[in-house]
Amino acid sequence: MKFQSIRGFKDWLPEEFLKYEYLIGIAKKILKNYNYQEVKIPILEKTELFIRSIGEVTDIVQKETYTFQDRNQEFLTLRPEATAGICRMIIENSLYMKPKPLKLFTVGPMFRHERPQKGRLREFYQIDVEFFGNLTPWYEAEVIKMSINILYSPLKILAKEVKNDNLFTLEINSLGCERCRPEYKGYLLSSLKERDKVLCNTCRQRLERNPFRILDCKDPNCKNEIQKLEPINRFWCSNCKGHFQELLELLDFLGLKYVFNPYLVRGLDYYTRTIFEIKGKGLGAQDTVCAGGRYDKLLEELGGPSLPAIGFAIGVERWELCISSYLSPQIFLDDLSPQVFLALLGKKQFKEGLKLAETLREANFKVEVLYEEKSLKALLREADKLASKKVLILGENEIKEGKILLKDMLRGTQEKISLENLIPKLKEELVH
Ligand code: ATP
Ligand code: MG
Repeated sequence: MKFQSIRGFKDWLPEEFLKYEYLIGIAKKILKNYNYQEVKIPILEKTELFIRSIGEVTDIVQKETYTFQDRNQEFLTLRPEATAGICRMIIENSLYMKPKPLKLFTVGPMFRHERPQKGRLREFYQIDVEFFGNLTPWYEAEVIKMSINILYSPLKILAKEVKNDNLFTLEINSLGCERCRPEYKGYLLSSLKERDKVLCNTCRQRLERNPFRILDCKDPNCKNEIQKLEPINRFWCSNCKGHFQELLELLDFLGLKYVFNPYLVRGLDYYTRTIFEIKGKGLGAQDTVCAGGRYDKLLEELGGPSLPAIGFAIGVERWELCISSYLSPQIFLDDLSPQVFLALLGKKQFKEGLKLAETLREANFKVEVLYEEKSLKALLREADKLASKKVLILGENEIKEGKILLKDMLRGTQEKISLENLIPKLKEELVH
C-alpha cells in the first residue's frame, strides 16, 4: 500500500519551503519594525473556545472545523484561525496588564475542512497579527498600512524594476457598533424576509442565523437582491461615521489606495466597526490574500477585560501564489546548492576529508562531501549536478604535499593551494 497525504494537506518540498521561509522572514522583519512581538500558541484548543469566539452559527464552526474527542472524552479542535487562541493566551497570562498597545503576531498552520481548490487548502498557513489597546483611527491606519507593506515587501526587495503598485487591492468597510448595527440588522432581516423565495438555500438559513453573511453570497440571484439593498453606511451612527471618515483621511494621507465596499462582511462573528480585505490579482475565485478588522468585544466575551482590538491574517499560500512570478529563482540558488564540494580521490583520503569538511563547516561554509569511491570525473559530475560553486580535490599527492586543488566551477579554472591558505582564499571568493 502506498500512502498519500490527506486531501487538502500539502508537502512543502525544499524549493517551496525556501520561498515560504523567505516570505515569512520578510514579513517578520516588517512586523518587528512596527514593534510587534512574536508568540506561539497551541494548534489544539478546547472546542468551546472557537464556539464562543468565532460564533456557533458560523460556517467555520458548523462545517469546517476538525473536531474530535480525545482519550479523556474532551472535545478538542484543530485551530481554524489564531485570534481566539491569542485572546485566550492574553487572558490566561494576564498580558492585558502589560503596557499598551499590546502588539503580537504568530505564524503557523490553520485547519479548515473546506473543498480544496486553487488557493484553498485544509491545512494552510497564516501570518496572524493582533493589536490591543486604545484604538483610534491612527492605530487602525497604521495596522492597515503595515499589512499592505508586508504584501508588497518581496517585490520591493527583489524586483526593484517591477513597478507594480496595483497587485493588491484594499477593500474597506465599517460594520457599525452595538448602537447602529442592530438597526441595520433589523433592516436586512425585514427587507430580505419579504423576498426570501429568491435567495439560495444557504442564504435562507443565514437569514435566521447571520443575515450579514448574505451580503457575501456569490449566488447571482442573491447578488442581485443585495444590489437592491440600502448600503450599510446609511445606518451608521454619527460616531461610526466620524471614525470611518477619519480613518479614510489617514489612509489618503498615507497615499494608500482603497475601495469602499459597503457590502463587505467577514465570516467570523466577532468583528465590529472597521473591517478590510486585501485582494490579489490573478488568484481567481480565492482572491483574498489578507483579511481583518476590529473586534472590540471579543476579549471581554472570552472572560477578559474590555479591550478594543484589531487584527488581520495573511494567507501565506495565496500570498505566495500572487507574487511567485516576481520571485526570481536566482535568489534561492544559493540556498539549494553547496558552496564547496569536496572530492575525495579514493578511500584512503576519507579520514582527511572528514576532518577538512568539519573545519570548513566550522568556518561557516556550506560543504558537501561524498564518502564513496568514485573517479574524479564521476565526482565532478556530482558537483556539477549540485551546482556547487567550488570543488576541492583531495588525492594522495595533495595530502603528502599539504596542499589541495581548488576548482572554480563557473570559471573552469583550477589552482593548487596550501591547506593553510584555503580558508582565507575561500572567504575571499565566496560571499557568506
Ligand atoms: P475566504 O473567504 O477566502 O474563505 P475567510 O474569510 O474564510 O476567507 P479568514 O478566516 O479571514 O478567511 O482568513 C484570512 C486569510 O486566510 C484569507 O484571506 C486567506 O488568505 C487565508 N485562508 C482562509 N481560508 C483558507 C484556506 N482554506 N486555504 C488557504 N488559505 C485560506
Ligand atoms: Mg472561508
